[in-house]
Amino acid sequence: MYLILLGPPGSGKGTQAKVLADRYRWLHLSTGDMLREAVKAENMLGRAAKAYMDKGALVPDDLVIRMLVDRISRPDARNGFILDGFPRTLGQATALDEALGAEGKSIDMALNIAVPDEELIRRLGQRWLCPNCGAIYNEGPGREKEAGKCDNCGGQLYQRADDRPETAIARLEQQKPPWEMLAHYRRQGKLIDIDGTQSVKDVTTDLLHAIERVGVTR
Ligand code: AMP
Repeated sequence: MYLILLGPPGSGKGTQAKVLADRYRWLHLSTGDMLREAVKAENMLGRAAKAYMDKGALVPDDLVIRMLVDRISRPDARNGFILDGFPRTLGQATALDEALGAEGKSIDMALNIAVPDEELIRRLGQRWLCPNCGAIYNEGPGREKEAGKCDNCGGQLYQRADDRPETAIARLEQQKPPWEMLAHYRRQGKLIDIDGTQSVKDVTTDLLHAIERVGVTR
């Protein structure tokens, strides 16, 4: 399966992509994670991307497309993947179609997790992460067994700089899936809308139903 998970920042894409990837043993590719690694490594891509990411803006298409197309050409992506955070523009969507098309492949479906803005801003302010194991705490710090420590591995929880309120609002304004990109997948008959205001578990259930439905009819 070649699957795309769409949705604004804070819609639960990352959490759901992990659940689906674990369940179906798909390769999970998050362009946000790849870019953060590049920034940490201080390589050329990271140096170019950092200023955009700090502002909550999108990294330019040419950089992100090159990074992603490179990544999906590796052998471990040959049998499928789930994309989390890509595409975010129509240009990225068509570049992905072209890269897969050159190999005789195409996206199977684009699952779009929809959540209203007010709810997204509230959620982003409460999201804390573990730097060691990648666990996501969506209710802010305070509910874990030991204050500020990851329940799984004891890592010191932190809040992403771009989840703080001012940047979170900028990210929402600039990073909602653009209608022309959604229209692109709708035209192809591949767009499936999922109600992202439900509990994490119920969103997973809806995603699984959508995937099984398409899987069965293919
Ligand atoms: P995320 O973890 O998906 O929220 O991404 C973190 C940041 O990385 C975003 O705020 C953007 O600055 C950048 N980014 C991630 N994916 C893309 C993409 N497909 N296109 C442009 N910028 C991206």
